[in-house]
Amino acid sequence: MRHFDLHCDTLCRCRGTHQSLLNSDGAISVERGLIFDRWVQAFAAFIDDEKRGAKAYHEFLAQAEILKKAMQEDPRVVPFDPQNIREGVCNAMLTVENGAALGGKLERVAEFAEMGVKIFSLVWNGENELAGGVHSEQGLTEFGKQVVKELEKNRIVVDVSHLNSLSFWDLCEVAERPFIASHSNCFEVCPNRRNLDDLQIEEIIRRKGLIGINFFPVFINGESDATFQEIRAHIRRIIALGGEDCIAVGSDFDGAAMPSRLDRIEKIPDWHQNLLKHFDPEFVEKITYGNAARFFAENL
Ligand SMILES: [Zn+2]
Repeated sequence: MRHFDLHCDTLCRCRGTHQSLLNSDGAISVERGLIFDRWVQAFAAFIDDEKRGAKAYHEFLAQAEILKKAMQEDPRVVPFDPQNIREGVCNAMLTVENGAALGGKLERVAEFAEMGVKIFSLVWNGENELAGGVHSEQGLTEFGKQVVKELEKNRIVVDVSHLNSLSFWDLCEVAERPFIASHSNCFEVCPNRRNLDDLQIEEIIRRKGLIGINFFPVFINGESDATFQEIRAHIRRIIALGGEDCIAVGSDFDGAAMPSRLDRIEKIPDWHQNLLKHFDPEFVEKITYGNAARFFAENL
């Protein structure tokens, strides 16, 4: 069984609890994730909206350090290489959640690329120097446009999760490479503004991007718990819009309260078993692993 997850907040949780990524007692630990034949895990360095400038940059560095330390301490944590995804290890991808991590400095994009960052979300819920999140009315700024160009030049994938609608469509005017929504669901199924409306989903499909299905019940059904059937409703909506090659997983483990049936990485196999009852095996392989693996092989 293979598992490719575009988003979790385990680094941030480990920073708060002073635990190691290897044996954290949260939703994900490296040791508990080694149940998969192939496992790619994006680990976001998350910057909350209270931090800006040098504080935001240093928060990014501190969380990146937690991943680096795990790689140094355990050979079973390796940097994600899209051309060589390894078996029986954690293929770990460093990502950024909230472009405030740049501390307002464009030249840091190249530095982040050097450190191994592969996915970069422009904002969290508020607004920053780059763009506006779902709690803001701001669009993509001039600095934000420069950052998008610089990210594309450095082969870092732009992530639109958390972006408000205005910033999303501003981004579409400047983006030349495919972008992704690492952890967002369908607004038509669950009308939460963190979810993507049909026009946004169609635009991501047209650009051959990815949409990572988020397990947070509030984005699945608006409630505090959710069923596998309710998760499938989001998958079916994206299929109906022609996006079967764009669906992926963006769990949000350790970043949000999870459904009781899917609250830890070791429960992912139960979800796969359930998907196999409703979809053919080739399709299940695509959404749980194959689409994302192909995307990064083609775009990094
Ligand atoms: Zn998030």
